[in-house]
Amino acid sequence: MHLLTLNCGSSSIKFAIFDSDVREFLRGQIDGIGTAPRISAKRNAESIIDRSLEDANVSDHGAAFAAILDLLRTGFPDISIASVGHRIVHGGTQFSQPVVLDKDTIEKLRALIPLAPLHQPNNIAGVDAAAAAFPDALQVGCFDTAFHRDQPWINDAFALPYHYYEEGVRRYGFHGLSYEYVSGRLREISPTHASGRVVVCHLGNGASMCAIDNGRSIGSTMGFTALDGLPMGTRCGQLDPGVVLYLMQEKGMSAHAIEDMLYHDSGLKGLSGLSNDLRTLEAAATPEADRAIDYFTGRIRIELGALAAMLGGLDAVIFCGGIGENAWRIRQSVCEGFEWMGVEFDARRNRSGDAIISTDQSSVGLFVIQTDEEIVIARHALELIGQ
Ligand code: ADP
Repeated sequence: MHLLTLNCGSSSIKFAIFDSDVREFLRGQIDGIGTAPRISAKRNAESIIDRSLEDANVSDHGAAFAAILDLLRTGFPDISIASVGHRIVHGGTQFSQPVVLDKDTIEKLRALIPLAPLHQPNNIAGVDAAAAAFPDALQVGCFDTAFHRDQPWINDAFALPYHYYEEGVRRYGFHGLSYEYVSGRLREISPTHASGRVVVCHLGNGASMCAIDNGRSIGSTMGFTALDGLPMGTRCGQLDPGVVLYLMQEKGMSAHAIEDMLYHDSGLKGLSGLSNDLRTLEAAATPEADRAIDYFTGRIRIELGALAAMLGGLDAVIFCGGIGENAWRIRQSVCEGFEWMGVEFDARRNRSGDAIISTDQSSVGLFVIQTDEEIVIARHALELIGQ
């Protein structure tokens, strides 16, 4: 019996197969959906496929899922999928635990599309496609918002007329599966740090930070949608709502045009005018690229201070995500100069790719942990099947 996990992002699908003991069998992804699609997968850390799909007309998530099915059916015909676990970005106020996805639940998730227009439709498309391909398999949804549902009220609310809070206009926070994984890993690596006050920096194309007190989220930088907080590859991050009013009233922009700009043309891409990809910006080293990187690291430092204040102090910082795990220059720009908070950064360890990048004397532990949302989904799905 095997379990398939699906993580449908805005232009990618990550997938993995686990056995019933949560041992990984296969892992891969299709990225560049709609532009330059490419499939890659590994089994036992060895590449089994890595090629362009440009000749296969992979223009949407449905076609990408078909390419994954094709890989599984031709390469591994003996696999029998008994359950499919899905990453679902938005669970609203209703879903604070993984759930079995039936017709009624899926309708409730559809109603949340306006709160995550870039991700939720793709997540639901993944559920529909998997249900058609594996009609007898149990489908399980695991929510990025669930990890934050217990946060204290003041970190959950906006200062709007209160009935909006009751209607669900709240700070949900996202990247919860990643936070769950890395805080669990910290408990294995350093239980003392894990039971203290921890800030996790999940820095990828989407980016957010979370304040975790003894394993529990008490606040995060993302709010009602995945637009708030840190600037990202193409998303703006924190923005005075007056800017949106100005764009509508004075510039005559429609809500749709503003949405498009805030989600797709802002962040690193908007500031640099060059690219949403940090590697491209680091290689370019132009004043425009540096401007975007400086803004990105500056906002991370501001949020680190804010989240440490929320926690009443700081015992550990974790970096994860494509940028957090790989970009040593970004980690250095974020960590240096925080001695006043007890952070002693070790530049040599950081550059050599060590998992601990603080000095032995530092009162704040600095960690780099490779995140793994897929294994969290698999564990939750198997737990639900067990019940
Ligand atoms: P997503 O949110 O789409 O899952 P990822 O976590 O894969 O994003 O992160 C993608 C980002 O990580 C890109 O900006 C990419 O440039 C950056 N990145 C990946 N590897 C490196 C590296 N070695 N050095 C600097 N940046 C990197």
